[in-house]
Amino acid sequence: MTFIEILISPLIRFFADALVAFCVSLEKLPFLRSPTGYNNPRVRRMVGGIGYWAHSFRLTLPNIRKWMKTRGELFPMVLQVQTINRCNAACAFCPYPYTVHLQEKRVMDDALYSKIVDECVTEPDLHDFVPMSKNEPLLDVKMEERVAEFKQKAQRHQLVELVTNGSPLIPGRIKRLMAAGVDLLTVSVNAANEETYNQVMVGLSWKQVMNNLEALSKEDLAMTNVYLRFVSEQDNRKDLQVFRNRWKGFNLFTFNVNNRAGTVKDYETKIIDYADFIQRIKRMAGSHTYPVCPYIFSLMHILENGDVPMCSNDWANREVLGNVRTQSIREIYNSPRMNQLRELMAQGRFEEIDACRECSFYHEWMKPLTAEEKVQVVEPVTG
Ligand code: SF4
Repeated sequence: MTFIEILISPLIRFFADALVAFCVSLEKLPFLRSPTGYNNPRVRRMVGGIGYWAHSFRLTLPNIRKWMKTRGELFPMVLQVQTINRCNAACAFCPYPYTVHLQEKRVMDDALYSKIVDECVTEPDLHDFVPMSKNEPLLDVKMEERVAEFKQKAQRHQLVELVTNGSPLIPGRIKRLMAAGVDLLTVSVNAANEETYNQVMVGLSWKQVMNNLEALSKEDLAMTNVYLRFVSEQDNRKDLQVFRNRWKGFNLFTFNVNNRAGTVKDYETKIIDYADFIQRIKRMAGSHTYPVCPYIFSLMHILENGDVPMCSNDWANREVLGNVRTQSIREIYNSPRMNQLRELMAQGRFEEIDACRECSFYHEWMKPLTAEEKVQVVEPVTG
């Protein structure tokens, strides 16, 4: 290690740790009160983008730290369940049209859904139950019933989150979903005017979604924390500030497009490019905070037929690890293959896993710097 590496690495590690500690401590501040969901103890301190990051750190880091220390059994802290394999959009940054949409339309049967719910509600490590994955969840006409079934059996700390494109979120459904007990509702908006919206959220109606958001803003949202999401990419990034100004009454969360484990077409035309120096700092801090990927340590997703692919970010489902019709969630999450994948990551061997090898999360956040890149980190400082 060179002198420069020795100098810069601890500083970046220190700032990464401080940022995580700061975000997590925010969730504990008693005076912090979200503009929506403020009477709901599970989500009332989730405020703005930092609140969402804090929530993500709280749900992803404990399992990683536990496994790295003990190699012990894990249960997912976040579980996504695909109850229907359909979406009504063809968004520019989403692989849906050329992956899930090509499958025959299927809806999860009630017995399988109940089996999943019944196992989750006995597991205290499960925090977020998300009955959506690679779909538009409100196309499932039973969604309200499904949310209610989970909430009626759930432990007090377990919450339900839904992410929708907002198109089917008409006033009647808003009321029914809130009555069923949705704690955290994220609407993926991704534009601030009709022209950009039509470019990015292909197949949806800007007017319909704006009307739905207006109706949502007039509801009593004391028990449901509502986030509006903006996935930033080349076509919509100019709208970001207008979006922020327009929707101040809700919580807002922005992040950059990712390549869904290499499955997003033309990703290179969408990606937000940063200077090489920034990229290297991101990787240095990211690989320190996440030496392994949270997707297989803290998250899990189940498809409508019960299959459990390795990673919900991989829209190609390259590796299926089990099926919850015949196995328990706990059994699949602690299977020999799952632990083998974790061990590969712990040894820094991400590129031996097919999906990870092509994944922008790995390349942009978790891939450790080479010795040469570490030296380059300080170039802008030293000239
Ligand atoms: S690095 Fe691997 S496990 Fe993590 S999100 Fe990408 S494909 Fe999934």
